[in-house]
Amino acid sequence: MQFPIDRFQQQTTPFYYYDLRILQNTLEAAKRAVEEYDNYHLHYAIKANTNPKILKQISLSGFGADCVSGGEIKAALAAGFPASSIVFAGVGKADWEIKLALEAQISCFNVESIPELYVINDLAAEQRVRANIAFRITPNIDAHTNAKITTGLNENKFGIAMEDMVSAVKEAKSLPYINYMGLHFHIGSQILDCSSFAVLSERINELQDQLDAESIKTSSINVGGGLGVDYEHPDEHLIPDFKKYVNTFRQHLKLRSGQQVHFELGRSIVAQCGTLISRILYIKGGHHKKFIILDAGFTDLIRPAMYDAFHLVQNLTTTAQKVEKYDIVGPICESSDVFIKDFNMPEGKRGDLIAFRSAGAYGEIMASQYNCRPLPNSIISE
Ligand SMILES: *Cc1c(COP(=O)(O)O)cnc(C)c1O
Repeated sequence: MQFPIDRFQQQTTPFYYYDLRILQNTLEAAKRAVEEYDNYHLHYAIKANTNPKILKQISLSGFGADCVSGGEIKAALAAGFPASSIVFAGVGKADWEIKLALEAQISCFNVESIPELYVINDLAAEQRVRANIAFRITPNIDAHTNAKITTGLNENKFGIAMEDMVSAVKEAKSLPYINYMGLHFHIGSQILDCSSFAVLSERINELQDQLDAESIKTSSINVGGGLGVDYEHPDEHLIPDFKKYVNTFRQHLKLRSGQQVHFELGRSIVAQCGTLISRILYIKGGHHKKFIILDAGFTDLIRPAMYDAFHLVQNLTTTAQKVEKYDIVGPICESSDVFIKDFNMPEGKRGDLIAFRSAGAYGEIMASQYNCRPLPNSIISE
């Protein structure tokens, strides 16, 4: 990946840099993976990155939107995603968010509990509309990813247990302001082993057999998101293997006639187009360790502190041949403000530009103002 270093020199650090050409190539690769199949639909999971320029480009590419809050529905609408392509998930939808979604006439609520189903029915009744709903089902699949980002196990807070699915669907079909559309799943994030998606498909097949046995017709199957990216070698794998991912479902998922399949990809769409750029403030030589102290901290990129996530760190300035082992840390007054420990990289000095690669997903959007720090800026490729 090429960076406009001269442009970076004039900027106040830290900031996010987005390469829109990489984003465009990623969007096109995802679209090519589904283009043969009329009933396969791509949504973008808004929560991964809501930078308005990024959202605009994704909406222009014809993606739908997967939202998990009222604020995200507003952001999606403002970026031009049609309401008819918006789905709304989340375990704790507030009344105002449900009302907003009903007024906007979004395409589907992904309902995560029976009490929520009743609230949606009541609020839809007030507006004299019927709400399209799908049930989020917990398929009890271990996605073999970080425990904090796995969502498909019975112990997680998400969705309705498989054994309660048939009664939930019957309940939905009995309510006057609810229109039952289908099933929704999302088993976790940063999943690189497609066998988890094969297992998900088989589980969906079993659930569909149960619904068939009750003569319940289901028009849509939403398999969620979760496709991972290569954080270790971003330049070798800038574009995720969407073909392999989609083909896993093609091979394993048994659809009924007329069924639509929805995907909700977040990370795999935006991770590789974004980089956090910061500067070295100080090099500190401790007795046992050398530290690089940056002007970026977990307020700018929280994934390492929160999930022990790895981001490839590159010094964009130095030409030094000598390699040193560093702990790379931020300025925040918390000992968890560490990006990486014992990392070998070319010798750095005060003022060098440091890049955190693959930071386009769950980066800028998770920034905070802890320690009264300003939120990071963003700049876009030309
Ligand atoms: C977060 C989320 C996604 C996107 O997950 P990625 O791992 O970023 O692809 C999709 N669907 C739902 C319901 C989500 O909560």
